[in-house]
Amino acid sequence: MSRKKIVTILIIIIVIIGIIGFIIWKNLNKSNKQNDNTIKIVTSFYPMYILAENITDGATNIELENMADVNVGCLHDYTLTTEDMKKLENADIFISNGLGMENFIDKAISANQAMKIIDSSTNIQDLILHEDETNAHIWTSIEKYIEQVKNVSEGLKESNPENAEIYEENANNYIEKLEQLREKYLNELKNLQGKKAICLNEAFEYMGQELGLEMTTVKTDHEESTMSAEMLKSIIDTAKEENIEMIIVDKNDNRANAETIEQETGARIYELNSGLSGSMEKDEYVKAIEENLQLLK
Ligand SMILES: [Zn+2]
Repeated sequence: MSRKKIVTILIIIIVIIGIIGFIIWKNLNKSNKQNDNTIKIVTSFYPMYILAENITDGATNIELENMADVNVGCLHDYTLTTEDMKKLENADIFISNGLGMENFIDKAISANQAMKIIDSSTNIQDLILHEDETNAHIWTSIEKYIEQVKNVSEGLKESNPENAEIYEENANNYIEKLEQLREKYLNELKNLQGKKAICLNEAFEYMGQELGLEMTTVKTDHEESTMSAEMLKSIIDTAKEENIEMIIVDKNDNRANAETIEQETGARIYELNSGLSGSMEKDEYVKAIEENLQLLK
């Protein structure tokens, strides 16, 4: 046999071994997945993770995971990473904020059609619209957040009935806690009703709605640095004309624009917590609201 023939035969053998190996590996993976009866729950981003943590506490045979990195914050214009795709492909249940926050949802569904999707924004009323776009940051209103808790709890009870009782009990306890917090919050911040504020982060619009604040909100998708000079000037003019005393920003935002407005108008900056990032502890939402309450008082 010529050397060339031997090499060709060797290559063919290697390719065949490779193919067989791949098939075996694929099947092994499949059976691993079938044997694993843990329900994998994936939340889209941080606020949904904290919410789900409260409802799933103590549930059996489940695994809760957040899709996006906590530092990502909101998911406006978000592109799925390979890591995200992997989590979605293995998920049984996906919990979304809804209202367009998860624009990648179609891609996620095509990657895993068996995945059950729970939209936390279902049937929530009094949404704030900017032209054609709905403000999706509903969780900054405690009242709307409670509705989100109810929606997620109902969705989980339906898709994972084995833990229905736990979900129900956890949701009831969490809602009770949130209702008490809301009562205290509205009571102690009564004097903000009808007050005017410049809001440089659209996440706080629902907070303002709940507190009765009259807010001039600039939609920036949290990129205050991209605000044009004309926009800034128009805000300063409005603040002067209307004697606005409050400027609301996210404590993680760049303060440059807020400081310019402060210098020009004498209004005061309030650095609030939008609940978009923090530790993975389940009390983080409650803590964020309490933090805002202390600052706004
Ligand atoms: Zn946002």
